[in-house]
Amino acid sequence: MSPLLCARCGIELKPGKGNFYVVRIEALADPTPPKFSEEDMNLDPRAEFERLLKQMYELSEQELLNQVYRRLVVYLCGPCYRQWIEEPVK
Ligand SMILES: [Zn+2]
Repeated sequence: MSPLLCARCGIELKPGKGNFYVVRIEALADPTPPKFSEEDMNLDPRAEFERLLKQMYELSEQELLNQVYRRLVVYLCGPCYRQWIEEPVK
């Protein structure tokens, strides 16, 4: 089994010692339905549909999913966790 490492500093974490944190991150794209502007309405709907479809074919299913939903688990050592939790979006 490969050792568990802190995602920030890389120190080895020892399960069972109570010296690290498991951080679960769930990210969801804006779930609000899009609003269409007048400009959007004036686009040729078929051309726009084909453009979107082409864009989708170029991305894998996983890539499409990653654009709307990501879930990650990060392990942090005690010191890294205490820094991170104060400013998680920095
Ligand atoms: Zn660390």
